[in-house]
Amino acid sequence: MEIQAWHTLAPEEVARVWESPSSGLSEEEAQSRLLRYGANRLPGRKQTNWLKRFALQFHNPLIYVLLGASVLSGLLNHWVDTGVILAVVLVNAMIGVIHEGKAENSLEAIRRMNDPQATVRRNNRRKRIPAEELVVGDRLYIEAGDRVAADIRLVETHQLRIVEAILTGESLPVSKDALSAPAEAALGERSGMAFSGTLVAAGTGIGIVVATAEKTEMGTISRLLREVVELQTPLTRQMEQFARRVTGFILLFSVLIFTFAVFVRHYQWDEAFMIVVGLAVAAIPEGLPAVVTITLAVGVQRMAARHAIVRNLPSVETLGSVSIICSDKTGTLTRNEMMVQAVATHEAFFTLEGQGYEPSGRILRDGETVTEDPTLSALARAALLCNDADVAREPEGWKAHGDPMEAALVIFARKAGLDPVRVREAHPRTGEIPFNGELQYMLTCHTSDSTMHEMMVKGAPERVFRMVHNVLCNGGYAQFEPSDWLARTHTLASRGLRVLAFATARRPPVRGQEGILDVDDFAQEAPRGFTLLGLVGLIDPPRDTARQAIAECTQAGIRVKMITGDHAVTAAAVARQLGISESPVVALGEDLDGLSLEELAFKSLTTDVFARTTPEHKLRLVKALQADGSVVAMTGDGVNDAPALKRADVGVAMGLAGTEVAKEASQIILTDDNFASIVSAVREGRTVYDNIKKVIAWTLPTNGGETFAILGALTLGLALPVTPVQILWINLITAVALGLTLAFDPGASDVMTRPPRPNHSSLLDRRLFGQTLLLCGLFTIGVFSVYFGVLQRGGSLELARTLVVHTLVWMEIGYLLSVRLTPLDPLQWRVAAATPAVRIGIGLVLMCQVAFIYTPPLQRIFGTLPLTGWHWGVAIGCGAMVFAVVEAEKRLRPPRASGGIKPLL
Ligand code: ATP
Repeated sequence: MEIQAWHTLAPEEVARVWESPSSGLSEEEAQSRLLRYGANRLPGRKQTNWLKRFALQFHNPLIYVLLGASVLSGLLNHWVDTGVILAVVLVNAMIGVIHEGKAENSLEAIRRMNDPQATVRRNNRRKRIPAEELVVGDRLYIEAGDRVAADIRLVETHQLRIVEAILTGESLPVSKDALSAPAEAALGERSGMAFSGTLVAAGTGIGIVVATAEKTEMGTISRLLREVVELQTPLTRQMEQFARRVTGFILLFSVLIFTFAVFVRHYQWDEAFMIVVGLAVAAIPEGLPAVVTITLAVGVQRMAARHAIVRNLPSVETLGSVSIICSDKTGTLTRNEMMVQAVATHEAFFTLEGQGYEPSGRILRDGETVTEDPTLSALARAALLCNDADVAREPEGWKAHGDPMEAALVIFARKAGLDPVRVREAHPRTGEIPFNGELQYMLTCHTSDSTMHEMMVKGAPERVFRMVHNVLCNGGYAQFEPSDWLARTHTLASRGLRVLAFATARRPPVRGQEGILDVDDFAQEAPRGFTLLGLVGLIDPPRDTARQAIAECTQAGIRVKMITGDHAVTAAAVARQLGISESPVVALGEDLDGLSLEELAFKSLTTDVFARTTPEHKLRLVKALQADGSVVAMTGDGVNDAPALKRADVGVAMGLAGTEVAKEASQIILTDDNFASIVSAVREGRTVYDNIKKVIAWTLPTNGGETFAILGALTLGLALPVTPVQILWINLITAVALGLTLAFDPGASDVMTRPPRPNHSSLLDRRLFGQTLLLCGLFTIGVFSVYFGVLQRGGSLELARTLVVHTLVWMEIGYLLSVRLTPLDPLQWRVAAATPAVRIGIGLVLMCQVAFIYTPPLQRIFGTLPLTGWHWGVAIGCGAMVFAVVEAEKRLRPPRASGGIKPLL
């Protein structure tokens, strides 16, 4: 169907055109429309073309130098050298293309895991479906925090306000209603429409889908920017910058060496040139930036496997330094599988039996089954009407649709003997104030008879008590005693129950004929004059995995703070059950209001639980903790959580319960909403940082060591212990096969038992510098002892050089094994070479070495001779020596000072 001016038509007209009954489409109809009109998906980002990606690998100053060197070698007729340098460059580029391609694809796949969902009515039931499956004619529900998933003609709205900046550029939210607009109305003036891609700032609404995918306004404009996968991070940028500096330094240094070789040592200039090329290739860490990116990408994949989707790579690094995690309670630390366990009315306390969302179970009063209680029935009726959830029997059991807490209230009503369908049909809803964390209540209006209307409110007890003037009791009314009811609330909350109060009021209709109560009046003025029905206490068991994860955080020096909208006493009880603290220090949101940033920082450090908070409190807490030097991870799900999520060092949104706005504002999305997944992500973040550190700590000293060995020979005027082309060979096989293996390390044994690393600590620190010097010394000693050893025993220069190459390779292997170990790990081959990547890498390198030493073609190219078993022993011995010395240095070194290490850059 052609795009029409849907905004000009009345909702009924649109419903007729699209055959969209108010009960929603049937599943069969939706399926056939999906086939007819296609999925509600905009064309994806173009895949980066392989050739272009390959070409981009050469766009790097390090590679320019290598390519320049290969051309010059060719001009000097050193074709073998040219070939080997080109092989180095090509192998590097290929590894880069393959791994970057894999990383990009997996990031893309990970991002697809987070595809948006939409709530629709189908077969007369609310249902969550992937937004891609929306079809024209669907009845779509939208609420605060949603990104509208298709263009819809609104049928019903409740204080609905939408930000349409993405389409109109207007950043303030615009009010929406179900009215038609003139044909010429601009997009921003079509109040009866909600457009795909815009954000719901407040309220709720229902609309009929009139356009999906490319047919939407969003799809028809060209400003369709889909986020691209970004592989650059501050760290990789830092690495590139570092590599560039190193290159500049090496070039300068090469000129000096060249001059020295030609004028002081009287080398032929082409020979001197080849030495310098060998040196430069040995010294340039050409693979480093790519390996760092790959390490990050491996971390992202591992995090996805542990239910944490990383939206941008830099947060992987930040995760490793998190020192405080501020977590929501409901659903993150607890299971959000609620059940009403206790009810308090004016006359009595009741307890409820049952399991989960199973609608069977007795209601007991003093141990006796209750069959009839008018106050309890009135309360159950309110619990059913002031409620948007449903419970349905599905093959795998009873399941909640909508808010789990409200679903638990539906079950409570059923246990109290009410039939949800009948009660809801008999009292249709005519108005509502949707729940939000700031109001802490929800209010609905219903028609009850021709003259009166009924309002139901449910919410946080303190909030509801303010609206109440009397209490329902035995069919009559009793005086409302605040202290008495606060005490009852306390009794329920101290058992860890989430407590809700229910109240009702009857009013004559405000607007005569149509009988619609105008709840908008309450937006300005708090509702009053209600009759309290009673309290409901819901159990929400803590997650076992969260309890373990909190214990792990304690070991890892990370502090956990619970931030909740719930009652202080409930929150404290749950915090105790979770092991956050034996006697948790609790602060109320309102206690934080008057505090300055410093006072707040002090208070927030000493507090474990923040109760009755609003999203603004979260933002202030993040700022205060950051001002105090902490690295803060903050969870959130609601639309108002977005500023705090953005501000936190790591914003963590809930994948299941979170709004689109919260997800877009955060760096990490949890696909299972579980606190334990945050801790797993922190563990991975620490591991990634360790691995990058290992990659650098391995690459720089090995490059430096090779360079030193050649330099030593040059300055002393000796014959070179390795030829330039042999140096190129070592680089070709080890940089890739050995260096890359570190990217896949699973994480050290102490990764979650040491404190968070200091903020802003640099990867390139003095310790690394010291280590590089040590390795340079060891390599030089190894190389020359072997070299002179062979010559002294009457061996030829070729034999000496072959053994030197082999020894260098073994020393690199020895160092690789040592870099993987922490000082706590036992010194065993089993532990040092524990990952398949390391074993495969070493295996590959040794296979190449065997070919290098024993196959005639390679012997010809590289001027090598066969080695004996004794030679192998010497080379392996040198590798073992490097391993032993580095291990000894590591174990003798004083423990890390708490202030961190002074960075070099
Ligand atoms: P957390 O921040 O840990 O998720 P929370 O879910 O308890 O905590 P909010 O959702 O802000 O926080 O709820 C605050 C209070 O508002 C609750 O303690 C409850 O009393 C009340 N409340 C929550 N949901 C509803 C609802 N759907 N209708 C009415 N009142 C509600």
